[in-house]
Amino acid sequence: MVIKTAPKTQESTYGSLLTRFNKAADLIQLEDRYRDIISQPEKIISVHLPVKLDDGSIKVFQGYRVIHSTVLGPSKGGIRYAPFVNQDEVKALAGWMTLKCAVVGLPYGGAKGGVIVDPKKCSVDELERLTRAYTRALKHVFGPKSDIPAPDMGTGPREMAWIFHEYSRMFSYEPGVVTGKPLELGGSRGRVAATGRGVMITAMCALEKMGLNPNHCTGAVQGFGNVGSYGAQLLARQGIRILAISDHTGAYINEKGIDIETAVDYCHAKGSLAGFRGGDIIDNEELLELDVDILVPAALEDQITSANAGNVKAKLIVEGANGPVSANADATLESNGVIIVPDILANAGGVTVSYFEWVQNRRGHYYTEEEINAKADPVLKGAFEAVYETSLQYNCSLRVAAYIVATGRVATAIRLEGFF
Ligand code: NAD
Repeated sequence: MVIKTAPKTQESTYGSLLTRFNKAADLIQLEDRYRDIISQPEKIISVHLPVKLDDGSIKVFQGYRVIHSTVLGPSKGGIRYAPFVNQDEVKALAGWMTLKCAVVGLPYGGAKGGVIVDPKKCSVDELERLTRAYTRALKHVFGPKSDIPAPDMGTGPREMAWIFHEYSRMFSYEPGVVTGKPLELGGSRGRVAATGRGVMITAMCALEKMGLNPNHCTGAVQGFGNVGSYGAQLLARQGIRILAISDHTGAYINEKGIDIETAVDYCHAKGSLAGFRGGDIIDNEELLELDVDILVPAALEDQITSANAGNVKAKLIVEGANGPVSANADATLESNGVIIVPDILANAGGVTVSYFEWVQNRRGHYYTEEEINAKADPVLKGAFEAVYETSLQYNCSLRVAAYIVATGRVATAIRLEGFF
């Protein structure tokens, strides 16, 4: 089945970031020198990685690592494996990491990596060789006190284990060089579910402010990978009836509510939702326009654009994915009264627990899952409250408020460092 997605608009992904950043910068009257520094990445690295394929041939893969900022600490950000990866997208993802870490108050800057590859078309051995080649190419960039990668779309604990091992082979045992590792190699309890959990926590905060009872709410979740599946599961456990879910193979609706636990088991067993019988098939575009209370786009960028924003009926969008709503859709959604918990806040649960993973690796002392959740949940609730208060102070959306909080922190740090 071919999945229809929202039509692409002219604005680049990094352009979306800049539009919103400039709106926030205007409201706080940010001086040009800080605006200039924050609006460009510190470093863009492009690598070409020759990898031996299983048939003995060599394929050269292109990869990127963008270090957006190291002002608040070592740069932090995931690595994406996808066929559509490009430099503009990685630049935007790196910039969002700077803002995300700043908005939740972590001592990190922002970075992102990407490799142009369809991991579904590679064998495990090929992916291992590619990941190790990427690690070697970036051996002087990665480091527990300089740049700390993590999983993103198309990568997970397995790839992080390879990065940890390859890096430790070149230098010395260093689990803190990468987060999102398997538990046995120094990963953190709670990390796998952390981003979905953050989606749930910030959704609950927003529903409370909106005066909505989760037990009377319906939802739809786009994407059923790490963020979408845990997000849907945890929202359902709060009493929200999830009417629709989707992945790259199709979208499914059930007016009585999808049995999310069954869908998760099905997806684990089959590798995707293809053939799932717990709902009727609809197309991806329809899912975004369903009459539900909460919409969680947790797949790709630019799913809601100026082309379809007017059709969105949800009262609340919680951005599980990075950049699922393009900047040119903001005005329409805002004028239609749609509240948006922005990506840099809604999906910050993952990097928050990644921070605790790094802390545990550096201390050599490990927490239980209850301890991790007890540390991470208040960070997200506190960040939501700060953003909400800022939105009241500046009479702006939660998105612009989140950019104001984050930009303010980065700009203050630049000023305090003294050069500027
Ligand atoms: P993932 O690879 O685990 O899952 C992605 C999901 O999206 C899959 O179910 C895939 O089938 C689905 N998908 C792809 N194209 C689709 C389409 N056209 N329609 C519907 N579904 C589609 O990735 P993930 O880690 O869950 O990441 C999803 C998003 O969340 C990305 O934007 C990522 O940057 C962001 N994010 C992830 C984390 C994390 O900790 N994993 C943290 C913060 C942000």
